[in-house]
Amino acid sequence: RYPPAPAYGDDREALCLESQGASGAASWEHKGLLYVSAPVTQAGRQVGRIVVGASMRPLLGRVGMYIAVSGLTAGIALLLAYVGVLRIRRDMDKTELELQRLVYVDPVSNLFNRRAANNRIEALQLVASNQGFVLALLDLDDFKMVNDTLGHLVGDELLLQLGQRLSAGLGSDATVYRYGGDEFLLIVPNAPASAKSEWGIRILELFAEQLIVGPHQLTVRGSIGLAHSPEDATDIPSLLRAADTAMYKAKHGGKHAYAVFNSNMDLALRRRLRLLAELRGAIDHDELSLEYQPIVSLANGDVVGVEALVRWHHPELGTIGPVEFIPAAEESGLIIDIGQWVLDAACRQLCQWRELNLRDVYVAVNVSAKQLGRGLSDQVLWALKASGLPARALQVEITEYSIVEALDTNVAELAALRASGVKVAIDDFGTGLSSLGYLKRLPIDKLKIDRTFVKDLPGGEDDAAIATMIISLAQHLGLSVVAEGIETQQQCDWLRNAGCEFGQGYLFSRPVSPQKIERMLRGVPRLNC
Ligand code: C2E
Ligand code: MG
Ligand code: MG
Repeated sequence: RYPPAPAYGDDREALCLESQGASGAASWEHKGLLYVSAPVTQAGRQVGRIVVGASMRPLLGRVGMYIAVSGLTAGIALLLAYVGVLRIRRDMDKTELELQRLVYVDPVSNLFNRRAANNRIEALQLVASNQGFVLALLDLDDFKMVNDTLGHLVGDELLLQLGQRLSAGLGSDATVYRYGGDEFLLIVPNAPASAKSEWGIRILELFAEQLIVGPHQLTVRGSIGLAHSPEDATDIPSLLRAADTAMYKAKHGGKHAYAVFNSNMDLALRRRLRLLAELRGAIDHDELSLEYQPIVSLANGDVVGVEALVRWHHPELGTIGPVEFIPAAEESGLIIDIGQWVLDAACRQLCQWRELNLRDVYVAVNVSAKQLGRGLSDQVLWALKASGLPARALQVEITEYSIVEALDTNVAELAALRASGVKVAIDDFGTGLSSLGYLKRLPIDKLKIDRTFVKDLPGGEDDAAIATMIISLAQHLGLSVVAEGIETQQQCDWLRNAGCEFGQGYLFSRPVSPQKIERMLRGVPRLNC
């Protein structure tokens, strides 16, 4: 009971005949069933046909199922992709916002940054306020020490806490910005120029209490420079330079102070920048020279040594003293070259005097902290070798503060120097940390009492007590003592009676040219004492 194969002339006939082919097999579809027929042959003769009919429905069902499952899978995949894209989009928006925030906010202190400050200044300058605004540049004192000794994490936390304290302390009257490494900028809108000092005091007051960072109680100090727009400057670079100049003044006037900008400071700044720019030429064009100041025995006035003091003969500005240009040399790194020049020239000069058979004296050369950290003993050995001066005829003078900055390395460097026979003196003693604890560790031969303690002798009781203390400290540690800045006979007498062996100052001689020293060493053997 199968449906007949399509009759000849049926519309499926062509297909049927075609598929019959040589084997005589045929297939056709009828009412949803698929029929396949093949001839049954025996001994080469067709004896019948076998016809198999199968329903297409399960097949179609399976195809339908396949399409449904594929569709569902694709749908889920699309949904997942959509959710993924949404999430990426959200992350991108968040990152974009964070990046935008970082453009204006400092991640360490959470304060607005330099870019935001500059925008604010620009905006304030556009506002036609009749009062103008005050700018305070705050630079932390010795912040590097915190980073170096306690680590950067403590340093970062300190900046964060300080920023919070400044913002909270100044309230809505001022905005605090982190302007650089250890620099904050405070902008006080709508404030007259006369308010500069008042703001300096207010900011300094916020440093009164210590900050507690982890287990550390930190005393933080800062130097503040204040400028006003439009009184001191109108464009941003000049305004910031004015605040920076005032800050520099505060820092170099003893730190933890504020200074208000004035136009004289601008002149000083211009000069400082000029010296900085032209210092290289000082060495290249042979503009440096040395003066020498005698160091005498207070017992009999004999000259025992000379201190070499560098001078810069600027072709336009005239003679410039070391107090002015040595800081610029240290800032620029040229102090290494200048220091070597001074050592070479002083050693050469002393050799020439020794060859003339003059009084046998030593030469003392001032060296900077920067030299100490960059192979001072090599510089000294080079100068000794090049000149032929015996090491015992050379002394180096180093300020107390320079040594304390990196105690361990410096102790090793000084020990190497002393091992070579060169003597080491601590200059300006009493103005640094002057603690017995570290003094005992230092490989030194001599202390030089700073002239601030000599100035008011014999009347000044405090100074007399300090000078007495330094002299007995030196005796106790087996060091010799030189008092600096002796200007009067009374000072000289008092110091001699207090047990000070040597002295130096205008009473004996100002720093003078090598020719004058030569006459001094040749002619009058003793100086007024
Ligand atoms: P210092 O080493 O303490 O030198 C003594 C300074 O005091 C000299 O000033 C000297 O002229 C001055 N002085 C000496 N006696 C008296 C006195 O009786 N009264 C007064 N009021 N002053 C007196 P100068 O030459 O201006 O040198 C200042 C400082 O510059 C030196 O202080 C020293 O720290 C530094 N310095 C000088 N030459 C060099 C150098 O070649 N290298 C380095 N790194 N620093 C140098
Ligand atoms: Mg000195
Ligand atoms: Mg000194």
